[in-house]
Amino acid sequence: MRKAIRSEMAIMVDYNQSLTPPEAVRRLRVLDDEGLTWVEEPVLAHDYQGHALVAREIKTPIQCGENWWGPHDMKQAIEAGASDYMMPDVMKIGGVTGWMRAASLAEAYSIPLSNHLWPEISTQLMCATPTAHFLEYANWWNSVLAEPLELEQGMAIVKGITGSGVAWNEKAVERFLA
Ligand SMILES: [Mg+2]
Repeated sequence: MRKAIRSEMAIMVDYNQSLTPPEAVRRLRVLDDEGLTWVEEPVLAHDYQGHALVAREIKTPIQCGENWWGPHDMKQAIEAGASDYMMPDVMKIGGVTGWMRAASLAEAYSIPLSNHLWPEISTQLMCATPTAHFLEYANWWNSVLAEPLELEQGMAIVKGITGSGVAWNEKAVERFLA
C-alpha cells in the first residue's frame, strides 16, 4: 500500500486486539519505518500495561479507545501510558456527556483525540474537542438517515447542523421493521 500511494495519504493499521504484547512488538518493529499514522489496538483493549509496553518499544503511534467504557477507562489508559492517540466511541464513552469528559482529559494531557464510528454525531463533538485529530468515517447508516453527512475533499461538512446531526429517514427505517 505504501508503495502504491507513496506518502500522499495516511495509512492506519488496526489489529482489533488480536496480538499478545510480545507478538505486537515483533510485528510492529517490521512496520515501524512505513510511516503509518497509527497502529490501533494491537493487544486487548483493557490490557493497558500491555499497550504501554508496545508503545515504549515501537516508534509508530498507538491508537486505542474504541472499546473503553466511560472516561474512567480512558483515565486508566492515560495513567498507564497505554496510547499516544485516543479514539473513544461516543456510545461506549457515555454519550455526549462522556465524550465531553473524555475531551477534557485529552486536552489536559495534550492527547490528539479521534472518534470511533458514528461520524454524524462525532463530527459535531469533534468541533467542540480542543485536541480534535482524525474523524473516522463510515457510510454504513446512510440509507436510513434523512441527511447523510456530507464530505468534501476528505473533510466532513457541518453546515450549521445543530443537535446530534442525526435525523432518520422514517420511510427507509420502515423497510427494516418486522
Ligand atoms: Mg478500530
